[in-house]
Amino acid sequence: MATGPVLTIHRAADEIGGNCIELEHDGHRLLLDAGSPLVGDGTTEPQGAIPRTLDTSKDIAGLIISHPHQDHWGLLRSLPASWSVWSGAASETLIRMTASLSGGGVAQRFQTYRPHEPFSVGPFTITPFLTDHSAFDAHMLLVDVGGKRVLYSGDFRRVGRKAALVDRLMKNPPPGVDVLLLEGTTLGRAEAFPTEAALEDDFVSLFQRTPGRVFITWSAQNIDRTVTIYRACKKAGRTLVLDLYTIDVMERLSALRDTLPRLGWPQVRAVITSSMKWMYESPDRMNAPAFVERVATSGHAMGAAKLAEMRDAVVMLRSSLLRDFGKKGVEPTADDAWVFSMWSGYLKTPEYQQVRAAFEAAGATFAQIHTSGHASRDDLEEFARRIAPRRLVPIHSFTWDEHLDGFENVQRLRDGEPFTIP
Ligand SMILES: [Zn+2]
Ligand SMILES: [Zn+2]
Repeated sequence: MATGPVLTIHRAADEIGGNCIELEHDGHRLLLDAGSPLVGDGTTEPQGAIPRTLDTSKDIAGLIISHPHQDHWGLLRSLPASWSVWSGAASETLIRMTASLSGGGVAQRFQTYRPHEPFSVGPFTITPFLTDHSAFDAHMLLVDVGGKRVLYSGDFRRVGRKAALVDRLMKNPPPGVDVLLLEGTTLGRAEAFPTEAALEDDFVSLFQRTPGRVFITWSAQNIDRTVTIYRACKKAGRTLVLDLYTIDVMERLSALRDTLPRLGWPQVRAVITSSMKWMYESPDRMNAPAFVERVATSGHAMGAAKLAEMRDAVVMLRSSLLRDFGKKGVEPTADDAWVFSMWSGYLKTPEYQQVRAAFEAAGATFAQIHTSGHASRDDLEEFARRIAPRRLVPIHSFTWDEHLDGFENVQRLRDGEPFTIP
């Protein structure tokens, strides 16, 4: 007797990250994401263990990656090199960059999908919907198999520069969704949800009232934020100073999407520091000495010492960069500001406590300007109502069980529990 496809959440039924979801039909297996779990302080384990219930001894039809955050792909480094992996083109670029940065790479060959273009692997037809998230090139994934329809939300939000894509999907949802796998990151977390456009105004006003330099800590792969900060620099007449890695990210993505700020654009400069130069020249890491040479001779680059006299600079800052700047005599002053533009949980790590202490000791201004990479509770509820799935399967939160009120047709699964879609 034929039965429906079987859904198994191997990991992330009860946690944020480490996503690994399987759909099995007629002996064919499809994986949705293969992430590494998050550790206590909110950072991601470099690879993490393979979930106990995931069988890696047999081949799969395909592994589809929703977006380039490590909690959705980090497990790749532990999985068979022969497995066939699919992602967006920009996602592959960012995944391979992250893997090289930490030394080592990703062995699997990738095939790329395009937004809104359905593709098939084995009996599965997948339609990716480009969505709004703090990761670039993030997708929701609609899977049709054996007459059933599964929508995987991946990670998403409604306050970024692509929010209109989520609104459009909600206005015109795919009909007849049997299972919605819905992320719930923000449930029970105190977070703010201003739009990126509102952040841009906050940055402009900070840039205008700060007499000295503004140092900002954000993720080089949070492209929405890079765009927000660049736009604010233009409005406030400041120069954006990016490190080699951020310059590299923007350049590689520009090859795929031509609208992104990059080296050569007005008010963008590259700062070449010793640790980043080492990272790029090292054969075991980025292995791109020619890139360093090209940036250095572009006419838009400078050494860190130059920052000592650039009072109009807005400078990308990580703790390693602060050390490099210090070696060249660039220290925070009372005229400067430091902005933490990442999830506030990361601020508690020793790494950022040290940065904060250095700026506080100098009497610099401290600000947090950030918005969530994930949907608010209200947005999650509204999204679920519009999709109107036969079953809603919670995922990607530590606290779903305490927040189920307001969500209908909930089918709670635990890690490793197989569920035959009726
Ligand atoms: Zn995630
Ligand atoms: Zn994510």
